[in-house]
Amino acid sequence: MSINKVIKMSELYAPTLKEVPVEAELASHILLLRAGMIRKTAAGVYTFLPLGWRSLHKIEDIVREEMDAIGSQEIMMPALQPAELWHESGRWNDYGPELMRLVDRHDRGFCLGPTHEELITSLVRNELRSYKQLPVSLYQIQVKFRDEIRPRFGLLRGREFIMKDAYSFHTSQESLQEHYDQMSHAYGRICERLGLEYRPVDADSGQIGGKVSTEYMALADAGEAELVYCDCGFAADVEAASVAVDVIESDATELTEVHTPGIGTIAALAEFLGVPENATVKALSVKDADGKPVVFFIPGDHELNDIKASRVLPGFDLLSDDEMLDWGLVKGFMGPVGLPKGVRVIADESLKASKYWTVGANKKDFHFKGAQCGRDFTVDAWADLIAAKPGDRCKECGAVLQGARGIEVSQVFQLGTKYSTAMGATYMDEDGREKPFIMGCYGVGVSRSLAAVVEQHNDEYGIIWPISCAPAEVAIVPLTVGDEIVAPAAAKLADALCAAGVEVVLDDRNERAGVKFNDADLYGWPFQVVLGKKGINNGQVELKIRATGERKMLAIDEAAALITSMVEEERARFVH
Ligand code: ATP
Ligand code: MG
Repeated sequence: MSINKVIKMSELYAPTLKEVPVEAELASHILLLRAGMIRKTAAGVYTFLPLGWRSLHKIEDIVREEMDAIGSQEIMMPALQPAELWHESGRWNDYGPELMRLVDRHDRGFCLGPTHEELITSLVRNELRSYKQLPVSLYQIQVKFRDEIRPRFGLLRGREFIMKDAYSFHTSQESLQEHYDQMSHAYGRICERLGLEYRPVDADSGQIGGKVSTEYMALADAGEAELVYCDCGFAADVEAASVAVDVIESDATELTEVHTPGIGTIAALAEFLGVPENATVKALSVKDADGKPVVFFIPGDHELNDIKASRVLPGFDLLSDDEMLDWGLVKGFMGPVGLPKGVRVIADESLKASKYWTVGANKKDFHFKGAQCGRDFTVDAWADLIAAKPGDRCKECGAVLQGARGIEVSQVFQLGTKYSTAMGATYMDEDGREKPFIMGCYGVGVSRSLAAVVEQHNDEYGIIWPISCAPAEVAIVPLTVGDEIVAPAAAKLADALCAAGVEVVLDDRNERAGVKFNDADLYGWPFQVVLGKKGINNGQVELKIRATGERKMLAIDEAAALITSMVEEERARFVH
């Protein structure tokens, strides 16, 4: 525990900025820079200044408390990881250019960990040998490295960032499920304690692997993640959402060629035919990992979801115009009827509901209406291919889905035996057999959460910290520092609050009142106490509550006790 000392603004390294770099677009990015919390070192690489670091520590402590409460044990693994471990799991190749790779002086390969499944699996496979030692849950709070293609939005998408990652090892699915539920509950609590408005959503398990996963989304219009949700309780990341889609079939029941000169897009086709876009079928030509051509067919009003598509066609890539020509594919006019030989057809399963399709005729300036699967063409595979969107229908209850945007602050995964099998991490079970561990992994974006909090809690004047992660709880703002009444009164109040365990900033700078007020709002101190000569002479100080803008006069003799109890009450709001 650090000693609670009054923070003196005159000594504090928290330079504020009037101007911020143009690249800072989001409120959180702008305000964390302006309030002297962080500074950019390189693209996606940030330094935390004292105030940013204090808030970050508070978030870490909340995460720690919640992890400790469910019996996960804190460890610290190295950021530097030997390449061999990643070869064992197969991810040295699979992870791609996001993995920061390096070689040491002996030419041995390493990476800077973007996540730690390999490292922890290699740790426990030598130590946990018997079912009697399981389950075990371990976590760390540590810096992670991902060479993101587009680092941006400050701490929200960094190339170096801080994550809490936990890993659990089990002998049964039931045991994994139990811990996964505890973790999920803890993740909800972490969001609540940070004052985040959030929603848990079904997620894709991405690079990490596994089958069951939930993401915790801090709701924010500026968030990069899109989600759909329903009043029945269904909520999912659009990357993962499986939804019901309405498609309209063609009014023609026979294969009918339509002259559509220059009509090479869905929007133009729908307009030309006078039908909605979901009465048309969109075609996308790609090549599989071996370079063989495939055409995806999806409802005209939807987009292909790359993640879903790569599940049916791992490693697929779009065909270039030249490649399309080589395969005899006619851009803007592709359809399943009479495709060139060797081109496979994969169609979205929602199209099964449509008997007669309106599609390209594989001939420039022509489309077909009334194309029927089985009669006019065949489909090699049906799959869920589309990106869900608001307006689609819920598969659980049929209601129309609503949409929202969010910042993914954390995610829990059931990994199963993906890593333990690949890396030979087994234990001896009760029946005397060697079995691979059943694993879960659980990540909280600690530095991203800091930015998410600011993204949700700000106004035109600055940050409005929830007290749980404010760099300090109360600011004391004496209006005249040299004054022999005001200065000692301010110092006395600061000391009294500090002695009562409140975190206090004393703005002892020789600045104009306006500057101090503006800074106090920019820094976002939850409680601000203003001391002026006149007020003190009347035995009063003014308290301002940042979140509501409410002001009250307090008797100076009672101020310390009153403010302490208000701080305690406010803290309690964030611990449930
Ligand atoms: P995203 O989809 O946003 O790239 P992810 O799903 O790849 O994130 P995970 O592997 O689930 O991320 O990592 C766990 C947590 O780490 C995420 O929920 C997020 O809060 C945080 N995180 C991931 N990437 C970054 C990043 N580039 N910068 C800051 N935090 C990150
Ligand atoms: Mg994730």
